[in-house]
Amino acid sequence: MEDTISGRSHQDRRAISERRVIEAAKSKISTLQLAEHLQGHGVTPGRATRCPMADHEDRHPSFFVYQDTDSWYCYGCLRGGDVIELARHAWGYEKHEAKMAAADLLWEFGHEIPSKPPSWFRKQERQRDTRAAIEQTRKNIVRRRIFKYCILPILEHIEDEQERAKESLRAFADLKDLLP
Ligand SMILES: [Zn+2]
Repeated sequence: MEDTISGRSHQDRRAISERRVIEAAKSKISTLQLAEHLQGHGVTPGRATRCPMADHEDRHPSFFVYQDTDSWYCYGCLRGGDVIELARHAWGYEKHEAKMAAADLLWEFGHEIPSKPPSWFRKQERQRDTRAAIEQTRKNIVRRRIFKYCILPILEHIEDEQERAKESLRAFADLKDLLP
């Protein structure tokens, strides 16, 4: 009998701490703040901007942040929700991992995390590697596109084939230094 009671209260405590983390993250970081953080630039509420999700190549801006409801929606990949959902999608957490997305959110913005079971951190470490890989892939794509659409057209004007090849390599190396 006593075991059942203590077991249940332990679960209750855990549920409370998970809710606390999510509530803390929601109260401290707004959807707009996270959207701007992910984009690396300002975002105007109610106006379309490119979707920050790594798995959505958003050619025509279709991502909206709504300040009155502190929410977001992407009309391209048909996802939306609150700041926790944005963190979860952007950082690759599963639906049942909302509390980890919330903890990550607090951590990312320099806030204290209400409770920190070690399993969170282990998982966070693993996720961090994944996110770094996604971020790098994204940068590589951007770099290749800049090269293709902004640099290659200039290089095409070089008549001499060898010089063009040499200049291409040099330009790509320069670009890699500028956009590592
Ligand atoms: Zn999207």
